[in-house]
Amino acid sequence: MRIDPELCILCGNCAASCPAEAIEAGETSYVITDACLNCGTCVMECPNAAIEE
Ligand code: SF4
Ligand code: SF4
Repeated sequence: MRIDPELCILCGNCAASCPAEAIEAGETSYVITDACLNCGTCVMECPNAAIEE
């Protein structure tokens, strides 16, 4: 899973919905870490379609 920094609007929805606490706030966008389980939850929660597999 990857967050496109061009599309991320820093809303925080993905981090709040992640069951693995695998999403952290970066300087210009949120970032998915190695703790990601590829569950797909964050993809559905993003209001700007910034998260892709
Ligand atoms: S795919 Fe699931 S585990 Fe991975 S970052 Fe998104 S919500 Fe978290
Ligand atoms: S839900 Fe989408 S727009 Fe919001 S912080 Fe996560 S990646 Fe960025």
